[in-house]
Amino acid sequence: MTMTRTAPRSPWMLDISDLGRRPGSMIETEREIPAPADLGTDVISVPEGQTLPLTTRLESVVEGVLVTGTVRATAVGACVRCLDPVSINVESRFQELFAYADRAAHHREVGAEDDETEQHVVVDGYIDLEPLLRDTVVPALPFQPVCREDCLGLCAQCGVRMEDDPGHEHVDIDPRWSALAALAEQAEPAEDD
Ligand SMILES: [Zn+2]
Ligand SMILES: [Zn+2]
Repeated sequence: MTMTRTAPRSPWMLDISDLGRRPGSMIETEREIPAPADLGTDVISVPEGQTLPLTTRLESVVEGVLVTGTVRATAVGACVRCLDPVSINVESRFQELFAYADRAAHHREVGAEDDETEQHVVVDGYIDLEPLLRDTVVPALPFQPVCREDCLGLCAQCGVRMEDDPGHEHVDIDPRWSALAALAEQAEPAEDD
């Protein structure tokens, strides 16, 4: 172990030095961390810097540190039907093993079968929660957020909010006739010359 330790690079880095490596020791914490950038999808995301309440339980196990916890966030976006603002509260649970680097190396040597799954590793006495938070929060967000399950959306023809004018409809003109009508309109000489 070296005497100098890398300063935490981000607020999502947890110092685990108090936990020790004796299997069975445990630390429970509650803290608030700022949301990282791009926590979400194109249609809904958690604004960067939002204060996220985070609870964690760190357990020392033989392989590393088992991290169990919950994170809460409020994602904002737009309803995919009517484009009104939408905000959605999510509370997500996570559990992940952060392996000690020496153990992780051993795993690679023996060719652990889960090569394709991302392995979290304890680095220099810290664990980085950011990838874990991302994997926890983003899948909990709706793929197509709506302001209400029964949102009527916008009229496909004129774009008016159907809720504001639920009965309105458009006379369905045969597309061939409407093309002719458009031509006729163009050809029409200006009358009030
Ligand atoms: Zn809507
Ligand atoms: Zn319309």
